[in-house]
Amino acid sequence: MAGLGRMSRISCSIPLEGPGLRFGHLSVPWSDDAHAYGVIPVPIAVAAGHPGPTVLLVAGVHGDEYEGQFALRRMIRALDPASLSGRVIVLPALNLPAVRAARRVSPIDGMNMNRAFPGDPDGSPTAQIAHWVEAVLLPTVQLAVDLHSGGTASEYLPCAYVYEGGVNDAQKRALADAFGAPLAVFVGSTAETRSVSAACERARVPMIAAELGGGGTVSRAALAAAEDGVWAVLRHAGLMPPQPGDADRRTRPVRVPDRSHFLMCPTDGLFEPAAWLGDTVAAGFLAGWVHDTQDPSVPPEPVAFAAGGIVVARRLPTLTRRGDTLFTTAVPA
Ligand SMILES: [Zn+2]
Repeated sequence: MAGLGRMSRISCSIPLEGPGLRFGHLSVPWSDDAHAYGVIPVPIAVAAGHPGPTVLLVAGVHGDEYEGQFALRRMIRALDPASLSGRVIVLPALNLPAVRAARRVSPIDGMNMNRAFPGDPDGSPTAQIAHWVEAVLLPTVQLAVDLHSGGTASEYLPCAYVYEGGVNDAQKRALADAFGAPLAVFVGSTAETRSVSAACERARVPMIAAELGGGGTVSRAALAAAEDGVWAVLRHAGLMPPQPGDADRRTRPVRVPDRSHFLMCPTDGLFEPAAWLGDTVAAGFLAGWVHDTQDPSVPPEPVAFAAGGIVVARRLPTLTRRGDTLFTTAVPA
């Protein structure tokens, strides 16, 4: 928890307390050869009405994941703050340098925002942003959703990600049902303490993540899941009146039991898939073939699933190295 007690160097251009709809930015100090007295202006928006809980909605933790960025930008502009029973804080591009560069990690400091918590007020920009979120923002929040997708290198079936084993498991399950993605992947709490989910766990804030699509682009299904989900979360939190059918929103719980469900590529080459997102496979089923990059006389090497289930994620680039995860399979939870 180093640094949590020290003051953030980040200032916020808008008040986060008080009714109304406001758009602003976090000023993250940044100085280099080209920007001597610059800031990184991380966008933030708040909508607040009557007294009620605070919901935090985050996207752009990874800069090349777009469904959540679109859904949050769209949602906050459509909100009528006077009708809200509570407060919504939106950070649609949390790692702005990564968003500006269309990259997973920040090009400034090479840091993955989801490995930067609890952050450091005297650290690099990614570490400073993480510190501000955990030390300044999360103590004021009652519910959080962090919207991800597969990024440039992979794609997912639209799903919620629920980290179990900490506090608030029941609230997280209810939040995943309300979010309403077709699947919810339950993962045991890991030793990973540097993620947004770990920060929320430390702050005792019920939180889910989502993995909505990927490929460095968006799909109709993933966009729809993001947009439907964020509005449903606001109703679930009581900020807005329920709609017909809200009580029946459910997600299908699945689990990735162990490392064998991440199918590792056995050799370098060109991977030709034989399985696709949403397929149900068994151990031993053909997943695809790795072709020699240059010599067509070499027979392609078949790759079989080591563990069965529903294919919930797949690697996208064809050029593949030994050690890459080709597919992720999940089993009913
Ligand atoms: Zn991500």
